[in-house]
Amino acid sequence: MPTSAFTDKFYQTLLESTLAIPWKINWETKQFDYIGPQIEEVLGWAPESWVSVQDWIDRMHPEDRQKTVNYCLKLSNDGVDHEADYRALTKSGDYVWIRDVVHVIREADKTISIIGFMFDISARKKLELELIELNQLNESLLREDSLTEIANRTAFDERMAMEFSRAKRNYSPLSVLFFDIDYFKKYNDRHGHQQGDACLKQVAKTLSSAFTRPADLVCRLGGEEFIALLPDTDNATAMLLAETARLAVEEQGIEHTESDISQVVTCSVGVTTMSSSHCFRSISSLIEEADKNMYLAKKAGRNQVYPEPSMFRFENSKFSIKQGITRQQR
Ligand code: GH3
Ligand code: MG
Ligand code: MG
Repeated sequence: MPTSAFTDKFYQTLLESTLAIPWKINWETKQFDYIGPQIEEVLGWAPESWVSVQDWIDRMHPEDRQKTVNYCLKLSNDGVDHEADYRALTKSGDYVWIRDVVHVIREADKTISIIGFMFDISARKKLELELIELNQLNESLLREDSLTEIANRTAFDERMAMEFSRAKRNYSPLSVLFFDIDYFKKYNDRHGHQQGDACLKQVAKTLSSAFTRPADLVCRLGGEEFIALLPDTDNATAMLLAETARLAVEEQGIEHTESDISQVVTCSVGVTTMSSSHCFRSISSLIEEADKNMYLAKKAGRNQVYPEPSMFRFENSKFSIKQGITRQQR
């Protein structure tokens, strides 16, 4: 093709027939020299309404404005080509995701103009946001027990690792409560697996509601076993909370005619606290002790907390508890 074919008309037609929107800004006056007519189709604003850089700034989503403008102005002044994604305001008041690809033209170490293309990337951004949401949902599902919808073992392991190091670092107490439903095999045998699942859901809900501090975490470890992780909680308070939770499960009054110790579903609870005077070498040894204490609660007759909360501890705790909760009183 002869070079004479590359006329201004040729370039203009070429530029104005693409989906990308071309533009040029005189960097000394900060005025638009040119913006392609395609802009009107994408944002609704006529090309003549793009007078200065301020119009570009004003038509940007307030949440994106400062970051984008600072970034683009700095790189344009420094003579660095760049790209920026932001939401641009349409004439009808909506926002469209735009990718601006900017090329800086310099003369004698000074930016004289910037040219670029705007791309409508809304479809791509929508897909990206959907993907992020999906990943977040996936992440949260990975940490949720599918039956009871409370935290699962993975969530527990992650939080425990964090809290264990924090407690050691700060010499702050960390309590672990191990819950196991009593005679749950007999419950399943009597009422069937489906009813057993419903019972597990109700117990999970009850235990979750028994621990109200945001830092507390109640998880289903598996089967009919649950664990509560209570940061910054001393042993006396932990035993008191364990007793409150045990009582809450009993008070649900879930009928269990096959239980050897009650007419309703109950649980046994083992409590262990790591403190400055009772330190554990590993997470597993801390959990093992809570598990061992749970078995001691079973051995002592089930439907109780081990070690058994004493009245002395109750009186010294900052919590109050319902009358008649100790086994001696019942
Ligand atoms: P103990 O008082 O000594 O704890 O007796 P237990 O019967 O509760 O303990 P065991 O370990 O013998 O039985 C636990 C039962 O929990 C066995 C199983 O049938 C039941 N189980 C475990 N996971 C599930 C579940 O996801 N759904 C239902 N419905 N039952 C489960
Ligand atoms: Mg068990
Ligand atoms: Mg059990």
